[in-house]
Amino acid sequence: MIAYRSTHGPVTFAFTDRFGGASDVPFDDFNLARHVGDEPAVVERNRATLARRLGLPERSVVYMNQVHGADVAVVDGPWPADEDPPAVDAMVTTRPGLALAVLVADCVPVVLADPGAGVAAVAHAGRPGLAAGVVPAVLEVMRQAGAHDVIAQLGPAVCGRCYEVPDALRAEVASVVPAAWATTRQRTPALDVPAGVRAQLEAGGAVVVPGGWGPEGCPCTLEDVAYFSYRRERVTGRFAGIAWIDGSGIGPAVQG
Ligand SMILES: [Zn+2]
Repeated sequence: MIAYRSTHGPVTFAFTDRFGGASDVPFDDFNLARHVGDEPAVVERNRATLARRLGLPERSVVYMNQVHGADVAVVDGPWPADEDPPAVDAMVTTRPGLALAVLVADCVPVVLADPGAGVAAVAHAGRPGLAAGVVPAVLEVMRQAGAHDVIAQLGPAVCGRCYEVPDALRAEVASVVPAAWATTRQRTPALDVPAGVRAQLEAGGAVVVPGGWGPEGCPCTLEDVAYFSYRRERVTGRFAGIAWIDGSGIGPAVQG
């Protein structure tokens, strides 16, 4: 259900885990993604459960159609019910009460805000998104929306000791984001996507605030079965990172 949640002035960040939902194997059981093959009605039930647990109206939690790119949507209300969400990998809002959700299973879920300026955002940063620059892109759109003191938090993702890649791919990504260069426990080539994301956030002037994950730090999805992991399970569910500004009053469906 809700694995971890923190408040920063009027802003709340939260991350879910795989427990407390209604999905069957292999999506068991708190899968929040529609695109993975799970029963749509069950996914809707899980999404309703999430909204209720967060204390938000169901339609005020907004999801993306994630495509591993760097496009960012500015959102000021729920998507129209009869339309698919836009194909973006980050969202920014200044609308109180509108919760932005990013879905992952090994990619890095990033939640961001400038609590003072009233700007919240989420980003989906896997290996392609890291190289494509979704993190610098979302920071830029947040600034255009009035943010200046941005805090960010990373959720559970596959770690640099687990995420083995071909040598050429490591070289390619590290040429864009040097901080992502890593080796596995077996000393084979790897990428540390969370480290790369952190470097991009800091280079963009954001302050990465620690999560309350306990002494082990933020979990690795591949190592911790409390989280969905694409690398471990292939066909599996997605958990969420969510960011919102306190408030209510989500009006008619509009999109900015
Ligand atoms: Zn790991």
